Amino acid sequence: MLMALIETHRRTQKRIPNKTEFMESLDELLVEAERSHGHMCAGQVLGVRMAMLGCREVGIEDPRGADKKKMLVFVEIDRCAADAVNTVTGCRLGKRTMKFRDYGKLAATFLNTGTRQAVRVVALDSSREVADCVFPEISDKYQRQLKAYKILPDESLFKVERVSIELPEEDQPGRPVSRVQCEECGEGVNDRREVVREGRVLCRACAGESYYRRLD
Ligand SMILES: [Zn+2]
Ligand SMILES: [Zn+2]
Repeated sequence: MLMALIETHRRTQKRIPNKTEFMESLDELLVEAERSHGHMCAGQVLGVRMAMLGCREVGIEDPRGADKKKMLVFVEIDRCAADAVNTVTGCRLGKRTMKFRDYGKLAATFLNTGTRQAVRVVALDSSREVADCVFPEISDKYQRQLKAYKILPDESLFKVERVSIELPEEDQPGRPVSRVQCEECGEGVNDRREVVREGRVLCRACAGESYYRRLD
């Protein structure tokens, strides 16, 4: 097992730079990710690599430049890696090109809106053990992961699955498709997020799905 891993690791070191048809190298993107996120961490490495892999798999080489209008991503966790996905793809919540689905999983789905191709990339739990095997000489577990995640082949770190995504009109970037007023609080609600309860048009908060409680 260990020998096989080290062999794969050797082969990968030669292979990764050639395989990447990305505009920037992993190292360049990691510098940007660190700056944007505020620190370097294993989540940045995994997130950057996850995003590079996801983009490549759907045929996007320059997500923040020439392919800017073609990329949309769903992230399944609101932790470090989500920032790295933002750095690499340029997709953002405020542009409606980054969707957050709170599954608590280190995973993201990359959609090429031009071709409709999509892949879901999931970080493998087993990558931690693999990191331990590749750098047994590094005593700090965190440093082992940080270093290993930079050089391990994609197959050791991620599972990739082809998926199809239906993106309803009201979830797409661009102008809001609708705007109504909540009949309870009077606040405006965009993009068909309202609900109808007993014949009344309500915002989700007034319909009982509120995450806050009014104090006055
Ligand atoms: Zn972090
Ligand atoms: Zn309301």
